[in-house]
Amino acid sequence: MKKALTFLLILLLTAALCLPAFAQQEDRMLTLVNPWNTIPANWKVDLIHIGSGHRVDRICYDDLMAMLEACRAEGLSPVVRSSYRTQEQQEQLYANKVRQWKATGLSDEEARKTAATIVAPPGTSEHQMGWAVDIVDESYRTLDEKQAETAAQQWLMAHSWEYGFILRYPVDKSAVTGIIYEPWHYRYVGRDNAKAIQESGLCLEEYLEMQARQQTMLGQVKAALESFFEDASRGIFRLMTRKDGGLGTVLDANDVMKP
Ligand SMILES: [Zn+2]
Repeated sequence: MKKALTFLLILLLTAALCLPAFAQQEDRMLTLVNPWNTIPANWKVDLIHIGSGHRVDRICYDDLMAMLEACRAEGLSPVVRSSYRTQEQQEQLYANKVRQWKATGLSDEEARKTAATIVAPPGTSEHQMGWAVDIVDESYRTLDEKQAETAAQQWLMAHSWEYGFILRYPVDKSAVTGIIYEPWHYRYVGRDNAKAIQESGLCLEEYLEMQARQQTMLGQVKAALESFFEDASRGIFRLMTRKDGGLGTVLDANDVMKP
């Protein structure tokens, strides 16, 4: 009897100790960078050249190369038009876009606001992470919605997730992402995440929100289980340390739940 109780006690304690493992770790691959979330201050890039003066972070190099190769194997011609950008390059791009809008007669504030939906203000661009690329079809290099109709883009939009990339600014998600529909901007999130996001049909912001909700629910279940294990362990310990060794005692609810 005592052996069985000891075993049960150890089992419960082990289960309680293992519970935190259920909690999902924060996934660096899903780091959110958007108009409301700047690149983390401690963000480090490990750049590698991919040709034509472009660089990306080493983390996505193999998958990017594999994706482009697979696309070319289909007889298509994807061209990387933009990749890693420094803070200075992003500042330049943003300033140019603000200037263009001001030239149309918008006020400084309006021009900045409108420009921000097209070129991310410095510090909020995924290109600065080194994990994003703009890819166009060789036959049509313009960054507009018609890009979606090109053969290379059609292939990329259907298959990028298989290589860990998501089309980051999908159609009809501008209100959530804060960025216009961009059928050319691919962000690396790793193959598992890309598959899950693809299956969910959500954009990154929505997907992270869903995860946060699940995390809250998991936390509540975990707290309830921990409380149960604590009560049960205490009850069993009490039974084990009785002078009569717990033999012949009745395991009623009061013994177990209210030591
Ligand atoms: Zn881009």
